[in-house]
Amino acid sequence: MTTVHTSVVVPCFNESEVIEAFHKALVVALESTGTTFEICYVDDGSDDRTRVHLKDLAAADARVRYTSFSRNFGKEAAMLAGLRMTRGDAVVLMDADLQHPPELIPRMLELHRHGYDQVVAQRDRTGEGVIRTALSQAYYRLVRRFMDVEIVDGAGDFRLLSRRAVGAILSLPESNRFSKGLFSWIGFDTVSFTYTNVQRAAGRSKWGGRRLLNYGIDGLLSFNSRPLRLAIHSGLWLLLSALAYAAWIVGNALVNGVDTPGYATLITAIVGLGGIQLVTLGVIGEYVGRIYHEAKRRPHYVVRETDETTARSQASVRGAASSR
Ligand code: UDP
Ligand code: MG
Repeated sequence: MTTVHTSVVVPCFNESEVIEAFHKALVVALESTGTTFEICYVDDGSDDRTRVHLKDLAAADARVRYTSFSRNFGKEAAMLAGLRMTRGDAVVLMDADLQHPPELIPRMLELHRHGYDQVVAQRDRTGEGVIRTALSQAYYRLVRRFMDVEIVDGAGDFRLLSRRAVGAILSLPESNRFSKGLFSWIGFDTVSFTYTNVQRAAGRSKWGGRRLLNYGIDGLLSFNSRPLRLAIHSGLWLLLSALAYAAWIVGNALVNGVDTPGYATLITAIVGLGGIQLVTLGVIGEYVGRIYHEAKRRPHYVVRETDETTARSQASVRGAASSR
């Protein structure tokens, strides 16, 4: 087996419109580095012609490999499958839509040579809607407060990992994978640089508002138990204020004699407490759900075919033909 220096992992979901252009740009960028490389494409159960394109690319170039899922398992699963395929000393993770410019790879490799285990290409928010930018920034502020690992705004999945960093990521068995958190959790020397955000070359983003919101909640919950701690804190504060209020009522009754206070306070207290209890129950439920999910120990994805299976079936066809 030849040794490979650089591996590139590309998760693809319905990217048939851009994949050819992306592949050309990627190969040009990689060849300019003068190192040996491999490209590991993962087709995340696309329902367009992405799989066929990837198969053709893999058949035409020995440096290209692919894995195809039986259905859409999500980008996290696709990245995991891609990382498992890699053999290189340096592994670059990137999107297929040309939003992660392949021209930056030489710079990432250069920083890797200086001894960094993680090189992060961080995008700015050029060309993004005002509301989306504001929401994302608010989210990252929230996350910084409530999360045990550090997550940086704009530092997405465009990054280079050293072999040992990949090993560390692959050693994490959880099925609820929030890679931004995982990358931060494994540690190692990390360096980042900023590039100007580019819009997707063609096709559509798969991240609508709802999916982003769920991703955000996932991120907050999958990395720590602070929301549970928050529930305890708010419960304590409520208990204290209820006690203070009770003391005030008793004092008031002693000084001014008994009066009949309005039921509005009562209703407010009941509704407020009910709300808090429901939220807390929801938070606990989320964690229980996660435990249930992890306890099933299902694989992260199901493979439909890979270039290895294709190569094998071709070989067996050839074998059958020659034995005839
Ligand atoms: N992707 C994937 N599975 C999914 C959704 C997305 O593999 O279920 C891939 C997609 O093909 C692309 C990358 O993840 O290469 C980023 O997706 P997208 O461009 O839709 O996200 P955005 O850039 O809008 O955050
Ligand atoms: Mg994109």
